[in-house]
Amino acid sequence: MKIIMLGAPGAGKGTQADRIAAKHGIPHIATGDIFRSNIKEGTELGQQAKKYMDQGLLVPDEVTINMVLDRIQKDDCKDGYVLDGFPRTIPQAESLGKALQERGQKIDFALNVDVPDENIVKRMGGRRACINCGATYHTQFAPPKKDGICDKCGSELVLRDDDKPETVQKRLSVYHEQTKPLIGYYEQIGILATVDGTQEMDQVFNSIETILG
Ligand SMILES: [Zn+2]
Repeated sequence: MKIIMLGAPGAGKGTQADRIAAKHGIPHIATGDIFRSNIKEGTELGQQAKKYMDQGLLVPDEVTINMVLDRIQKDDCKDGYVLDGFPRTIPQAESLGKALQERGQKIDFALNVDVPDENIVKRMGGRRACINCGATYHTQFAPPKKDGICDKCGSELVLRDDDKPETVQKRLSVYHEQTKPLIGYYEQIGILATVDGTQEMDQVFNSIETILG
């Protein structure tokens, strides 16, 4: 089963991808991880990617796509995979579709974990991190025993810059501009399935399992 995860940053698609992967015995392939492992192993593609990243430039689609193609041809992907964080744009989706077609393969499901922006901003705004040990909490979903204090080491908890409403809003506008059009793209191809990502995590997963059958 070959699955693409779609959804805004903070919609919880990584968590769901993990659960799908565990349940179906297929790898969860996050683009960030592919980048890191290629760079760490010093592969040809990793070196190319690093050259751009070191200059603060975006890694060109071609390099990213080749890394993904390389990854999904590994042995552990023979029964499928869950792609998380790729494709991010229509051109990437088109390249992926074409490359798979050349190999006689196709994506089975594009799973859209749908969460309205305001929920995401609220969720992220509740996150707290320990300035000392990095432990993470959530004021609503995983509160520390004592307000603003780390359970593990007693240090102060802060709202990270990444989780601040203005940063989250910025990421969401990039998502709306570049990635959200993929929902229409995969709908047209006929493999889009949308789940309500505002439900409890277990319920979201149950909805996904119903779709995957
Ligand atoms: Zn701590």
